[in-house]
Amino acid sequence: MTIAAEVAAVGGTMIVGSTGFIGRFVAEACLDSGRPTFLLVRSFHHSATLSSLRHKGALLIPGSINDQDLMEKVLREHKIEVVISAVGGESILDQLVLIHAIKSVGTVKRFLPSEFGHDIDRADPVEPGLAMYKEKRMVRRAIEEAGIPYTYICCNSIAAWPYHDNTHPADVIPPLDRFHIYGDGSVKAYFVAGNDIGKFTIKSIDDDRTVNKSVHFQPKCNLLNMNELASLWEKKLGHTLPRVTITEDDLLAAAEKMCIPESIVASFTHDIFIKGCQINYALDKPTDVEVMSLYPDASFRTIDECFDDFLAKISVASVVVDKRASGDAIFSPNAPTVVDKVTTKDTI
Ligand code: NDP
Repeated sequence: MTIAAEVAAVGGTMIVGSTGFIGRFVAEACLDSGRPTFLLVRSFHHSATLSSLRHKGALLIPGSINDQDLMEKVLREHKIEVVISAVGGESILDQLVLIHAIKSVGTVKRFLPSEFGHDIDRADPVEPGLAMYKEKRMVRRAIEEAGIPYTYICCNSIAAWPYHDNTHPADVIPPLDRFHIYGDGSVKAYFVAGNDIGKFTIKSIDDDRTVNKSVHFQPKCNLLNMNELASLWEKKLGHTLPRVTITEDDLLAAAEKMCIPESIVASFTHDIFIKGCQINYALDKPTDVEVMSLYPDASFRTIDECFDDFLAKISVASVVVDKRASGDAIFSPNAPTVVDKVTTKDTI
């Protein structure tokens, strides 16, 4: 079937932000599902990512969501029925223009705004994370006022070591020299593999049960606290690592520095691992649905499997981990590592 014929049969899905961290998982899952997939691309800098997505069948549309006329033209011309936005934190309010375009065209059956984290109407992080949540809340209210059918994806944390100063921790191997444990390390969070964020996001878009709902990702197999996460990684490495406490005050100080985006991540880290924002509420609103209940037969990748992937990356060759300590110390997963005496002040 040609793309045009497929679009006529099931409608097109347009993804915004496919060159980004979350958007790429969503784009890949959309292509894997066989849906006609259009990627709105603002710049062609990420040529390797884009050519791989094109190779899988994606059609690229140049443009930015803050051009309303262009968005209306694109939605009409390509008969787009589903729009999924995964724009980054600095572009959240650009989606207001896209919402106007979607409303004006009137044929989009589902809009998923850039959420992909916590339930932003419930969670209440300190600044500067709160400012981003306020923008995401504005976007939610604009969608609801426009009467556009929506789904909010609340997928919780990405399956990776939750570095408090890195927006994309899944790109980074878990610690090889020491763990930073937030508070007493006992507060649990949900860790979801990027591929699963993509897979279940795409499952939700043509599911009637998710219209005008928040879809919460709460896989029980991946509900862990930091102490458990550290022990799991130690098991993979085959040896233990020192644990350094990062206190609540340390995280608040990192947030207060207003160093963007690190301070935003620090404020979310505080919300998750000190205040327990992923576990301190019940799914008791009529708008709540939980992904495991929706798709009981679908499997989630476990954090154990995700840590195996990280281990595979460092097992290929020895890795230099601490040049400061011994000039050129070589790390091998089965050998003891060289660790400096650390204080929290060194690192936060
Ligand atoms: P990135 O910064 O990695 O990527 C943003 C993408 O959006 C890029 O492709 C960028 O294009 C595109 N974009 C930005 N503005 C526009 C625009 N005006 N028009 C068209 N495209 C645009 O974003 P993230 O993946 O980090 O964040 C996406 C969402 O996921 C956010 O809501 C964020 O809060 C959330 N998130 C959740 C995480 C979790 O652990 N649960 C982790 C990280 C993010 P270009 O290439 O041109 O810049």
